[in-house]
Parts: sequence; C-alpha cells; structure tokens
Amino acid sequence: MDFQQRSLKLHFIPYLAAGHFIPLCDLATLFVSRGQHVTVITTPSNAQILRKSNPSLHLHIVDFPSKEVGLDDGVQTMTNLDNLTNSAKFYRAAMLLRGPIELFVEQHRPDYIVADFLYPWVDDMANNLGIPRLAFNGFSLFTVSAMESVKAHSTTLHSETGPFDIPDFPHHITMCSRPPKMFTKFMEPLLGLELKSYGLIVNNFEELDGEEYVHHYEKITGHKAWHIGPACMVRRMAQEKAVRGEKSVVSEQECLSWLNSKPASSVVYICFGSVCRFPDKQLFEMACGMEQGGYNFIWVVPEKKGKEDESEEEKEKWLPKGFEERNKDQVMIIRGWAPQLLILSHSSVGAFLTHCGWNSTLEGTSAGVPMITWPVQGDQFYNERLITQVRGIGVQVGATEWSIIGFGERQKLVDRDSIHNAITRLMDGADEAVQIRRRARRFGEKAKKALQHGGSSHNNLTALIEDLMRFKDSKPLQ
Ligand code: UDP
Repeated sequence: MDFQQRSLKLHFIPYLAAGHFIPLCDLATLFVSRGQHVTVITTPSNAQILRKSNPSLHLHIVDFPSKEVGLDDGVQTMTNLDNLTNSAKFYRAAMLLRGPIELFVEQHRPDYIVADFLYPWVDDMANNLGIPRLAFNGFSLFTVSAMESVKAHSTTLHSETGPFDIPDFPHHITMCSRPPKMFTKFMEPLLGLELKSYGLIVNNFEELDGEEYVHHYEKITGHKAWHIGPACMVRRMAQEKAVRGEKSVVSEQECLSWLNSKPASSVVYICFGSVCRFPDKQLFEMACGMEQGGYNFIWVVPEKKGKEDESEEEKEKWLPKGFEERNKDQVMIIRGWAPQLLILSHSSVGAFLTHCGWNSTLEGTSAGVPMITWPVQGDQFYNERLITQVRGIGVQVGATEWSIIGFGERQKLVDRDSIHNAITRLMDGADEAVQIRRRARRFGEKAKKALQHGGSSHNNLTALIEDLMRFKDSKPLQ
C-alpha cells in the first residue's frame, strides 16, 4: 500500500505551558512536513504566537476560561504565574477546556488525537468518541522509565527519607533526595492514563535515551513509544530559532552581535526555563559565583528583576552593588524571555547552566553544548542523572532540594563557591572538561542526524505514520 499518497487527520492538543506547548507544536510541524493533515487546538493568545512561530499549522481556537477560575483576563499560559494558588487555578481552567474541545472534535472527527498527558480528560473524551489517541508528556524515556519505577515502589520509597536508588533500572542511579509525595501523587494517575493510549511520542532521539531504555520501557509497561525528536531541530534558520514561545525581550541582532564579539566557547549561558523563579538571595549567590571566575555570561533573570522602576535598594537584594558596571563587557543580563535556541546554537557559547527542564536539556544537547546541571523540581532531577552520570555531557552544581513548585522560598541555597567550581570544571580547559566537551559535541552531531533523511527519528516517524495508517485501515468504518 502506498502510504505516501494518503494522509492522516490529526488533532493536536498542546498543554498551555512553554515547556509542553513549544515542543508539541514543533512535533506537529514535523507531521505537516510529512504531508499529514494537522489541526492544533489552542487559545487566542497562544494562536497568535503560533501564527508567527509555526506558520504551517492549521489552528482551531477555543477561549481560555481564565475569568471563570478567578485569574486575570488574558492569562493563557503558565509562564509568569508565580504562586501555587494561581497555578492551581490555571490547571482548573485547563480542565474546563474539555467542553469546547470535545464539541469541536465531535463535529470534526480526526483519525487520531495527539494530546498532552496533563489533560487527563482526553482519555475519557477519546473513548466516548471512539477516536484513538497518542500521548505526549514532554519527558525523555529515561525519565518516564524512572517515574514508572518510582510509581511501582511508591509506598516503600515514601516510607523513608534521604538518598535512594531507582529500583529495577538499567543503570545504577542514586538520587540525592526523594521526590515530594505531592508530586508523585499528582503524576501517578497521569502516567496510568498515558499507558491506556495507543502509544507515546517522545521528544528525544533514541541515541540519547539509549536503546536499553526503549526496551526497558516496553518491557515494564507493555506500551509503545516512538522517539521522533529533537523537536527543536525543525528550526534551522536563525530567524526560526529566535521566534518561539514568548516574544523575546532582546532582538536577534543584539544577541548575535554580542555573541559575535566573544571568542569561541567562552560564554556561559544561564537560564532556568519558563517557570522556575529563585529568591533574591539565591540570585545574589549566583552573581557572586559568576564574578569569581571572570568568564563571559548571558544571564536570563525573571522579568520583574531590574525593571526601570526597580529601586537601588530592591536591586541590591539580588545583584551585588556595582555588578553591572564592573561586568559590563562580560555579562549580558536578559530580563525576561530570551531567544534560547538562537543563543545555544552560537559557537561562542561554551556551557549552559540549566535547571534541566527537558526542553532546555535537549536543546543544549542538540547544540553540542556541555551543561552545568541545577535541577529544581519534577522531572529535572532524573534529567540531570541522564546528562551527567549516564551520558557524561555535564557536571552537577550540587542542587539537592527537590521543590514542589519552581518558585518560592527554599531551605537550601547553592552557594557561590559551588557555582564557581562547577563552572570552572567545564570552562578551565582541563582534561575532564575536554572529554565532556568532546562527548557533548558528538551528541550534538547525533541529534542533527536523527532528523535528517535516514536518521533514527526520521525513520521512527515514517514507521509511526505507517503504523497509524495500518491501524486506521484495520478498524471498521464508523
Ligand atoms: N525558553 C526560551 N526563553 C526563555 C525561557 C525559556 O526560549 O527565556 C524556552 C526554552 O528554550 C524551552 C522552554 O522555553 O524550549 C522551556 O522548557 P523547559 O522544559 O526547558 O523548562 P520549563 O519551562 O518547562 O521549566
């Protein structure tokens, strides 16, 4: 049968947080590039972003019920929500999206639904309508496997505190602390529903997870997973890399001319994703750690820091007095959304200090940039282990506190010396740094190849589309 001649009708439902929305929409673009008919269901302000960042996507727009749950009108993404109450309200609003989305899907039936696992109602909706669905969770398969192991041993794990080994796992991995019970309890039902889907699409390339995790996942769950990423590699031109997610607060030209003025591999890029926010005293330690080394930095700090109306007194809580003046040639501070992919792809960037959100981790890997890992919450601690212990393309800063959320006060600070030491380990050009850099470069090359014709993810996407076609043909006509 010639699958090239036919196309599937797919409805994508991305979750409204940058770390989920950006990769799933980029993966949707990949399906379009293979001739599939894709509709992305999203809200008005996210649609505005997509029209610029992913112009090939067909969109269906539904209103986001922010007012109904007591959020400010216009809030349609998790970025910039800075407390647990508003995050809970946001999640409630996301649950209310079922009504308008189900109506649309019923009237415009696709062959498949591809939805983020953070919408648990999609399982029931898809069953009601008799439409198979693919699940997406935005994690690596290494991390999903770790979460499945933790889920299976949840009672024993939560009966004690302190470090633990991930049970029944291909590698011997010791975690420095236990995931908060609130997090595992939230994840368990979602992971359970994910396993009821037709299959999982993974934003990663097989070489980074490793074949052992593809087999391990299938063995422990009996579920099928397709590696079809890295999603970020669909963006080739500088302009495509710069326009993604929120609107960047610095222009492409400004960023590039600053980076062009620096020697190769001399800049440390620091960014903690779209949700994580540190208290002032942690930012202060970070700034002091940077000043100890004398390297070049691009430092992305939350929007409200360093605004024009911020008083000197306020500023000195998070930035040492005179920091900007002393470091004006060496440190570029970006206050708000940065064009991360553009920055990471520049040859002047020599290391990435990251919170290990999966997208950032994969973007750093795909750019061949070694990482300094500083996980904060959720999946990030597992991602750190994959990068540092298993693949050897990064070093740990020494963060051990597993928060429930990405913002708010913390018990422990990562001090300036730990920050300085971790940066130096990657930037001093010693033997360890050379080896890590070499491995990181190799993974960057593998990531690029994965999406090219004949690469692992390219082949997996072909296999997935063929599988979906066959399954569709095997079903009785509705
Ligand atoms: N991002 C960006 N600029 C920023 C902050 C984040 O482009 O200033 C992008 C980043 O490239 C990644 C996503 O937002 O694609 C964040 O996802 P990740 O999984 O790394 O972290 P999360 O925000 O979910 O914690």
